[in-house]
Amino acid sequence: MNIALIAHDKKKDTLVNFAVAYKHIFEKATLYATGTTGLRIMEATGMTINRFLSGPLGGDQQIGALIAEDRMDLVLFFRDPLAAQPHEPDILALLRLCDVHDIPVATNIATAEILVKALERGDFAWREVK
Ligand code: PGA
Repeated sequence: MNIALIAHDKKKDTLVNFAVAYKHIFEKATLYATGTTGLRIMEATGMTINRFLSGPLGGDQQIGALIAEDRMDLVLFFRDPLAAQPHEPDILALLRLCDVHDIPVATNIATAEILVKALERGDFAWREVK
């Protein structure tokens, strides 16, 4: 199970706390993240994370490349809807690819909770069949 974790600056604390709370689930998966998000989660949880570039420098596109190859099973992307992002086109491209490949994606903590609990229940078995 490959999981991508991304958070915009004002949402990083939320995602870090989320990763701590659900560490027992995340540690069974292979984790990927954009640069700063990954560093923050590694520091807080001790989990190993495959880190890409920072989002504004191309990290979203690198994660998008894995999605395009159908190698990502779940994307948790805590976006900040109240701040303009310099890499907005990359963000839209990543979300578009999730839709192209039917990859479960959460853009806020409420949906992320539902997806992570579904993952824990085994509801993602269809991804392995695929
Ligand atoms: P970051 O990138 O984890 O390197 O901050 C995330 C983003 O802002 O898209």
